[in-house]
Amino acid sequence: MPMPFSTLAETLEALEPISGRTQMISMLAEMLRQAEPDDIAELLYLSQGRLLPDFIQKEFGMNERLIYRSVTQAYGATYDDVLARSKQLGDAGLVAQEYAAKWEADNPMAPANIEPITLQDVYSQLMKITETIGSGSQEGKVTQLAVLFRRLSPLEAKHVARIVVGRLRVGVGDPTLLDALSLAKAGDKSLRVALQRAYNLSSDLGLVAHTLYTMGPEGLDDIHVKVGNPVRMALAERADSADEIVARLGECAIEPKYDGFRIQVHKDGEKVSMFSRGLEDMSGMFPDLVEAIHRQISSAQVILEGEALAYDPSTGAIQPFQVTSQRRRVHNIAEMSETLPISLMAFDLLFIDGRDLTRSPYIERREELYKAIAPREGLGGLHPSPALITEDPEQIVLFYEDSLVEGYEGIVAKRLSGVYDAGKRGYNWIKMKRSYNMQMSDTVDCVIVGYSYGKGRRASWGIGTMLVSVYDKANDTFPTVTKVASGLSEEAFQELGRRLLADKIDHKDPRVVSVLTPDFWVVPRYVLELQADELTRSQMHPAGKTADGAGYALRFPRIVKERPERGPEDATSVDEIIELYNMQGKGDTRGKRKIVQDVSEDE
Ligand code: ATP
Repeated sequence: MPMPFSTLAETLEALEPISGRTQMISMLAEMLRQAEPDDIAELLYLSQGRLLPDFIQKEFGMNERLIYRSVTQAYGATYDDVLARSKQLGDAGLVAQEYAAKWEADNPMAPANIEPITLQDVYSQLMKITETIGSGSQEGKVTQLAVLFRRLSPLEAKHVARIVVGRLRVGVGDPTLLDALSLAKAGDKSLRVALQRAYNLSSDLGLVAHTLYTMGPEGLDDIHVKVGNPVRMALAERADSADEIVARLGECAIEPKYDGFRIQVHKDGEKVSMFSRGLEDMSGMFPDLVEAIHRQISSAQVILEGEALAYDPSTGAIQPFQVTSQRRRVHNIAEMSETLPISLMAFDLLFIDGRDLTRSPYIERREELYKAIAPREGLGGLHPSPALITEDPEQIVLFYEDSLVEGYEGIVAKRLSGVYDAGKRGYNWIKMKRSYNMQMSDTVDCVIVGYSYGKGRRASWGIGTMLVSVYDKANDTFPTVTKVASGLSEEAFQELGRRLLADKIDHKDPRVVSVLTPDFWVVPRYVLELQADELTRSQMHPAGKTADGAGYALRFPRIVKERPERGPEDATSVDEIIELYNMQGKGDTRGKRKIVQDVSEDE
């Protein structure tokens, strides 16, 4: 039986007050159990407030005011009335629900009272709204949403309004949905690994779920990388000495660690797409690279990865990340190609002409990468990243120091036999970065989970304190790790404060774990890169909490920058925090060089 849309609306409603993840998973599983194969993909997308996988951008193009106009049209209210009510209720969903309820009470023959609308019907109407573009499209969108509203119950109208405005109040993360899928189909977590693998390769929960529902668990093994679908990116572990790298990898390849913008390039004949580390579609952002890809790569189908670096055309100097990322914000991209040209330092090849290379060893992928790219002199265009193959810690330290002199961040060591571990952070890649000070050798990415208004002067400037979390992968939760209130300009703070206010929820998000209670909680969404003086054990923050009740906390944190390309699950993990804690105080890598030299001299 086709699923009625009310099943989703009721589940979203029931999830809203829930603050425990286990309960969330079982409620989602209950909903997923009721879905037919034909509905499952759409159900998953909609439960995350979208129509397609994240990497395909589909904008509704409707702000709250347009939604209020739809409410006006649908329910015969006046716009001023609706707007005034919205100021009191503060949420498009509640406004739509209220007017729908009034209208339904006055119209017992309202369609929503007679015939329940199906999930597919809502889905296709919403899709039409995204496809209404061009002149007069705003009017068209308003009317289409009004027509849809008239077919919905008040509860359904509430959640549809929230989906359209992009603010579902329930943050259902990918790992939570994967757990729920396994529970729905197997009754336990036994399918989780296979589901995760398929998801890491396809980045498409809808496709994964549809495959599971139509072909069973065996079908998941047939999901492979596909040109055009971003592959969830492999990530590196850390080391703080060359000795440790060699101890872990033996003979390995050492590459510079570029501080640019990671992109995954998909070439499919004439079409070139590019994805950021958060799998955001960046196609169109780097037209000079697209041209270089066509010029330097003759294979019809390729997926490769590299770091995009901007450089100053007058001096040839590599620009730091902040400058590279300016390209994202600037409108005149053509002009940027002149003033801030880009090179792509390619470091991995995942797919070429029908062959999935993700299971091939690094050394083979590397060889294919060199073959695939026609050489080009000078800056700009594509360049395979150089790699030194060695098992000598001394050579590694020299390469590392040269990299720093070149203006790079450090090195990435790669296991020669290592496969491309999609979506995982593992020891197939090990990064060693410059130590910022003797204590913490790396910055930490944290997601904002709560906000407290500032005190005194800070309050009058609109600058508050953010409660932030890291990510606990094993439990798919966000335990807090510190509070942060410095590092951004006054304007940037105020602007972020406004965005947080729009994300305010009246209870803790179910995935957040916290001892402290901020002035208000927010849906975990915005990621900040923090630098801190050190990591300490703390009773106030539950990140990495051990039996003695103490977790880990960042001391004296400050914001380095916001990381718009990262989602909440891309935040630094609890495991990494523990690892960083254990690395503390071991001294910086230059100290290690001395030790390496001393040892060889002794010999
Ligand atoms: P960081 O903030 O240190 O860049 P991260 O969380 O973005 O870390 P990691 O997996 O820890 O990602 O480090 C690998 C990152 O380093 C990649 O995401 C990529 O952007 C960058 N990088 C730069 N040069 C290389 C290289 N030669 N090989 C692999 N990754 C590289």
